Amino acid sequence: MNQGPIKRFIAGAVCPACSAMDSIRMYEEDGVPHRECVKCGYADTLDARGNSVPKELTTRVNETRKAPAKPTSQTVQFFPNPRLKKKD
Ligand SMILES: [Zn+2]
Repeated sequence: MNQGPIKRFIAGAVCPACSAMDSIRMYEEDGVPHRECVKCGYADTLDARGNSVPKELTTRVNETRKAPAKPTSQTVQFFPNPRLKKKD
């Protein structure tokens, strides 16, 4: 028996591709939520922040993003001060 992921229809969900209502099914693979439209075949993945990632972009790479990407704008610069190690 093929035990695939459990796919549930999302009540009230509208397909972003064909605008059909109640045609979106959702399921998880490796903890990553996926959506698919049973009417037009549109499929996407939701990343850790809940953003839609169209499946065309990630079909080749099975990416699992479990940790949310943090902005690395805070740069810590460390200047070693040789004077601190000065011996009297
Ligand atoms: Zn659709």
